[in-house]
Amino acid sequence: MQKIIQQLAEKLNHIDEAEDVIKLKLEMQNEISRLSMEADILDFKLQRALKDKNVVNSLLTKTSEDLKNALQEHERQAKRLNTLLNTIPALVYFKDSNFRYQLVNKAFLEFSGLTRKDVIGKTLKEVFHHYLPPGKYQELEKQVIKDGRFFYNVEEQVEQNEKKIWIHTNIAPVRSREGEIIGLIGVSWDISSQKNYELQLKQARDLAEEGVHIKDQFLTNMSHEIRTPLNGIIGMAEILGQTNLEKNQNDYLTNLLKSAMHLMGLIEDIFEFSAIETGKFKSETGKFSMPLLMSHLENEFKSEAKDKGIDFSIKVDPKLPKFFTGDETSLRKVLKNLLNNAIKFTREGSVKLSISPEKYLKNNLIIVRFEVEDTGIGIKDIHLNKIFESFSQADISTTKSYQGTGLGLAISKRLVEIMKGQIGVKSKEGKGSLFSFAIPLKVEIPAKELFDESKIIKLLKEFRILMVEDNLINQKISKITLEKSGCKLDVANNGKEGLKKYIQKPYDLILMDIQMPVMDGLEATRQIRKFEKEQGERHAFIVALTANAMESDRKKAMAVGMDGFIAKPFNPKELFKILHGFIIKE
Ligand code: ADP
Repeated sequence: MQKIIQQLAEKLNHIDEAEDVIKLKLEMQNEISRLSMEADILDFKLQRALKDKNVVNSLLTKTSEDLKNALQEHERQAKRLNTLLNTIPALVYFKDSNFRYQLVNKAFLEFSGLTRKDVIGKTLKEVFHHYLPPGKYQELEKQVIKDGRFFYNVEEQVEQNEKKIWIHTNIAPVRSREGEIIGLIGVSWDISSQKNYELQLKQARDLAEEGVHIKDQFLTNMSHEIRTPLNGIIGMAEILGQTNLEKNQNDYLTNLLKSAMHLMGLIEDIFEFSAIETGKFKSETGKFSMPLLMSHLENEFKSEAKDKGIDFSIKVDPKLPKFFTGDETSLRKVLKNLLNNAIKFTREGSVKLSISPEKYLKNNLIIVRFEVEDTGIGIKDIHLNKIFESFSQADISTTKSYQGTGLGLAISKRLVEIMKGQIGVKSKEGKGSLFSFAIPLKVEIPAKELFDESKIIKLLKEFRILMVEDNLINQKISKITLEKSGCKLDVANNGKEGLKKYIQKPYDLILMDIQMPVMDGLEATRQIRKFEKEQGERHAFIVALTANAMESDRKKAMAVGMDGFIAKPFNPKELFKILHGFIIKE
């Protein structure tokens, strides 16, 4: 524009010399209009530039505010992170790839008793030189940096100022944006108090286990110590009963026997319950005849019921098969407990045992239902759901006149459950009770040889029998009982004597006590079996006849090679049953 103005000025200077003023005027007019146009454009540009400047200004103001806010937010976050880091009770630290501390939290400094300056940039060894150098932990750190592995729940014991401390650590690698491992982050806890607690718990558990073991041992010893003299009392009383007694002497003797048998029952209940509770009870399955079991129960309870003036009956559904495989001993025990109670708690009326098939299952299995119904005193509703608990007696005021421990039903319930069944009760006070249970039993094809006592006794008479027993009273009782059936037997006073006798004479049956002086029954059996093996011919039936009636004792007896196990007091019928079992097996 300046240039145009200069040109105009020059033209004005030469106006005098102009030949044509009009032409000049025209030119000037053109120039002026061009100039005014350019001035308009310039003005427009100026206005726009002014506008742009305002926009830029407001943008600048906004950006600087945003930046300020972001900075404040960033500061807030960093503060929060810092608070978090320093309030965490765990030791948190970040190390670079050369295992040098780059960041540690407050807990870390408090635990180590050091300042940040003492720690940052240093290695574990430099910082904790007063610690016993931890081995495993440093190895793991190397793996984190090398392979990028994570380690959780690493526990290590370290020593600080002669104090042993348990540390629990999690370690993880830290990577750059590009994925390169640039360090590791570790979080550690002092778990010494937990560990000490664990140790105390373990010690308490060991102590408790030892206590249980001592209790078991005590029960075994008690079992032996109480049963042995009690066997003596019962055996002698029975022998006394076979002599000529006056009527009142006979009555005294009957009472004596009753009390002794009752005491034996109580001891057996307590030991049995304890065996079940400690998991030592093992159920034994075998073949058995239901009619035979019923006839035994009938013999056992009929006279007792008759003495009380109660009707006693057993009703077996004709559809029920006769032979089964199951735990006959437990079944018998449960039925005896229920029948005993039914007769005990019934003053008049009847006690009825009914057996019927409830459900036929696959693989020859039948659920058999057993019901014991009485017309006795009944049980109040409030006591019904507690009746199967141990030491539970329905109503002390009414039942105190009846003897009992309150263990019978608890044992029965557990035995039924062990046999995979369920037991229940329905009762009306003053009207009577119905105890029932159902268990699965396997139906058996009838055994060829049914138990026939006379056949067994006949066989036993031909047997050479040796009794190994140190207790003179027990020797006498068993001898008299067996000789009554016409059997003959020799006696040895301990295991060593028994072994010597067996080597000299081939006995067919050895009744072996377990606890004996000089050599016990287990060792004697071991030696006898060793001798038989060397000889290659002989095999005597060895039956343990012992007051140690726990399942563990039975196991021990079987483990050394005994063939059977009878708990004292010696009942020849049990021996006959065992022999019957041998015969069927042979
Ligand atoms: P106990 O040795 O006391 O008989 P049980 O466990 O066999 O122990 O029985 C627990 C309690 O259940 C008994 O004391 C009695 O109160 C009650 N009870 C059991 N059977 C019967 C029954 N047939 N009639 C009435 N009460 C019964």
